[in-house]
Amino acid sequence: MNTYEIIKKKRDGHTLSKEEIDFLINGFTAGDIPDYQMAAFLMAVYFRGMQPTECVDLTMSMVGSGSTIDLAPIKGFTVDKHSTGGVGDKTTLVLAPLVASCGAVVAKMTGRELGHTGGTADKFESIPGMQMSFSKEQFVQIANRIKVSIISQTETLTPADKRMYALRNVTATVDAIPLIASSIMSKKLAAGADGIVLDVKTGAGSFMPEYADAVNLAKTMVTIGEGAGRKCTAFLTGMAQPLGHAIGNAVEVREAIDTLNGAGPPDLTELVFALGGEMLTLAGIADSRLDAVKVLQNSLSTGMAARKFQDLIEAQGGNPDVVKNPDLLPQAKQQLPLKSRQTGFVQKINALDVGMAAKILGAGRQTKEQDIDLSIGIILQKKVGDSVGSGEALAILHTDGEQSKIDPASKRLLGAYTIGPDHRDAGNLIQARVAADSIEEYGV
Ligand code: URA
Repeated sequence: MNTYEIIKKKRDGHTLSKEEIDFLINGFTAGDIPDYQMAAFLMAVYFRGMQPTECVDLTMSMVGSGSTIDLAPIKGFTVDKHSTGGVGDKTTLVLAPLVASCGAVVAKMTGRELGHTGGTADKFESIPGMQMSFSKEQFVQIANRIKVSIISQTETLTPADKRMYALRNVTATVDAIPLIASSIMSKKLAAGADGIVLDVKTGAGSFMPEYADAVNLAKTMVTIGEGAGRKCTAFLTGMAQPLGHAIGNAVEVREAIDTLNGAGPPDLTELVFALGGEMLTLAGIADSRLDAVKVLQNSLSTGMAARKFQDLIEAQGGNPDVVKNPDLLPQAKQQLPLKSRQTGFVQKINALDVGMAAKILGAGRQTKEQDIDLSIGIILQKKVGDSVGSGEALAILHTDGEQSKIDPASKRLLGAYTIGPDHRDAGNLIQARVAADSIEEYGV
């Protein structure tokens, strides 16, 4: 076997064998195959695509390039959830304790990647004292004791993905569905859960704006998950506007706590029921998604979910009192209203621009090493469909008071809003459900 022949075979549109894919990934991980050959291979995949079997083989080979988490010592069915990334997406903060309070085990790793706000790990860390780094033994022990533990992703997981992603970034090969799907799924499979629920964002401002591409990505990821012997389902969810009202770190934790106390925003609550219902169904805790939603509702209304969040915070060294008293979370120096200059209805909110405004204010990091001020963020006062008068607050900026950030952030956020004379609604949040053998479409 040689690398040249493998690249040529893919360039000419043929299907690679598992042995050929392993040869390529192992050689690349070991440093025997140079970047320029991997770059050529990635471009061949970009144009030629991959068969489902090749996607599974590529993903498994990437999983094998690094360490994996063995969740076998954890009792019960373990479920994980992954989102392709949305502005204001704090669903993990709600789902982990909620689903665990209903009997499934949520033992998961979460990211700290660059973004508009911190990753989920940063959001958790805005809870005073909360730790996100534990040994594998401690992680397993916490999950066995309280059915939930969340740690930040280790550097040793899927090194092949890290190097391939860096190459894709500079060779215009990021947006190839087989490569995206194998990249995401390699990390999920390495993290070990028995069941995986995927939230694929679609629509303007999302990673996969075109609905058909998002369906394709979802199908490919589900095929990989099932091909690797896990239970896997995906939802396509709209990102016509940010999820909920809060965008930031501590402000998102506060909104997650509100949701666990049964007083969350309607869109976030709807998403939590869809994803959580699926997680409970995969875990065999409910017979149908309808039953699962009843179980989730019961946990919210009886306070079980909120108590589970307290257990999680306490087990990971944080102050559980934040659940009863969210004022214990970091507070920004200043809260400033951003006032509308028009009267009418909010017709659109560009989620990406809202994310960028939060980043300009200081809620996200530009480089991996950068510290972020966890108190900074934005609370949207108006969402799509709401009426607004001139001079009324569209949003509240939680800032450190620095005018050099406030001015450009305000401009960006104002530009994110489209206000017009007619009422428009935001469209469907949950647009499709993709399972191994079916797709249910609910409309955009
Ligand atoms: N997220 C990932 O982890 N990988 C990709 O290729 C794209 C998004």
